[in-house]
Amino acid sequence: MQNYEKMNDIFNTYPPMKQKNVPKESLLEHSTRYLKKICTGFYSLIQGMDITLKYFLNPKKVITQQYPENRDTLKMFDRFRGPVSLPHNENGEHACTACGICEKACPNGSISILATKDVSGRKVLGQYIYRISQCTFCGLCVEACPFGAIVLAKDFELTVYDRNELTWVLNKSKSQGSSDTSQGEYS
Ligand code: SF4
Ligand code: SF4
Repeated sequence: MQNYEKMNDIFNTYPPMKQKNVPKESLLEHSTRYLKKICTGFYSLIQGMDITLKYFLNPKKVITQQYPENRDTLKMFDRFRGPVSLPHNENGEHACTACGICEKACPNGSISILATKDVSGRKVLGQYIYRISQCTFCGLCVEACPFGAIVLAKDFELTVYDRNELTWVLNKSKSQGSSDTSQGEYS
């Protein structure tokens, strides 16, 4: 009984908060507020679609690449890193001396330099083996080469069905059909 009285005292001391009187809106005010909200929502939608609308009205400015339709004209950006390539000099020769520094620099074992000797007994490049399946395109081999003999090409369509086609011999002469950016021949 005592507890009940105590609780009553508490309720009497802290009566429930009364709701403040909210002024009633007229129909005109309500409609105006409603229309304002619709306009604000529509404006924010337009703001959100600003870029989309600009390109829709001016399709010449569209910067999205239409791949693969643009395959013939598509140029990869300067910092793109593709597969390792052995470019030719003006005489159609590779600058590689088969020193093997790039092979040592590669953290993934993607490169094997098979050296041989020419008629004068000088060490020359026999085969430059490149396993693209192990390559992460880090570029460490390119940085390590003291002769600037290798580059990272811009090729990017590299999918094949047979994993054996992912091991390449890079030193193929131009007369054998190799370009400076392509992989030469498969091993
Ligand atoms: S590519 Fe450069 S680092 Fe590699 S073997 Fe040839 S010369 Fe040496
Ligand atoms: S780019 Fe990197 S992973 Fe690829 S062959 Fe060169 S060093 Fe190795």
